[in-house]
Amino acid sequence: MTEFDIIKRYFAEQHMLDGNEVRIGIGDDAAIVNAPLQSELAITTDTLVEGVHFLTTALAFDIGHKALAVNLSDLAAMGAEPLWVTLALTLPQVDHHWLSAFCEGFFSLAHRYQVKLIGGDLTRGPLSITIQAIGKIPLRQALLRSTAEPHDLIYVTGTLGDAGLALKHLQSQAYIDPYYQSAILERLHRPEPRVVIGQSLRKLASAAIDISDGLMADLGHILTASQVGAIVYVDRLPFSPGLAQSTPLETAITLGLTSGDDYELCFTVPTKKREELEKNLSALACRYSCIGQITQRPDLILCYENGTPYYGSINGYQHF
Ligand SMILES: [Mg+2]
Repeated sequence: MTEFDIIKRYFAEQHMLDGNEVRIGIGDDAAIVNAPLQSELAITTDTLVEGVHFLTTALAFDIGHKALAVNLSDLAAMGAEPLWVTLALTLPQVDHHWLSAFCEGFFSLAHRYQVKLIGGDLTRGPLSITIQAIGKIPLRQALLRSTAEPHDLIYVTGTLGDAGLALKHLQSQAYIDPYYQSAILERLHRPEPRVVIGQSLRKLASAAIDISDGLMADLGHILTASQVGAIVYVDRLPFSPGLAQSTPLETAITLGLTSGDDYELCFTVPTKKREELEKNLSALACRYSCIGQITQRPDLILCYENGTPYYGSINGYQHF
């Protein structure tokens, strides 16, 4: 099969273009789209490399899902509605089983959010996947990292640490209660980008980021960009029942603060918008936790809600 045949079989025909926003999709030198009116475009790209971003044992379905999910997560963190993606795929060989499963994972997530694949590239080499995702945001409503203000409340969606626990488990470094094993592993293999929640935060959050590298690192990006500090209460970190059941609290806190790949959103909210925000998230059936507050003083303080300082294994973390 030629490169053209593979594209046609797996990528071009699976994707029916509708509406007039995509004038030319796959098949020409470049895609042509109609720029949405009264909107700004958010553009992001991410590469996954075998052995670096996913284990060599990862399933093709999961790789297809995750490669798209991490890009949609970045759009969600900006408050963008995903529209189009391009896909550059480097494969060591043409393996039809692998390609079918990859496409199943990729397109089932793409269809869920009505994201259109409008172009890409296919080459031979060590397995890697690069996706570029483009989304739209109403003018001036994008959620940035640089706009958190002192006294804003800090929230996270969902639960933290599950993907990190799953990775440790696969590396034989952690126990997972068998009853919860598949749910926890799914958090690593098939993260669910918070696409709808990100859009719902547009007029409510003052700053946002997605948690790809761990809460401390990613909240740290908001603090640096906004030139503020924060106090985070470690006993308010949200854990899944599976994580709580599998590890001592101290380990759960360490995972929640430092492990990556959860793809939840971390965002800040002015105190006067707290009620509206919580009403909105509840209506979306989104689990949320208020874990702390932004401070003027530019350092990151970890403590318990009763004021006791946190002296866990990551005490001494210095972001500034
Ligand atoms: Mg990100």
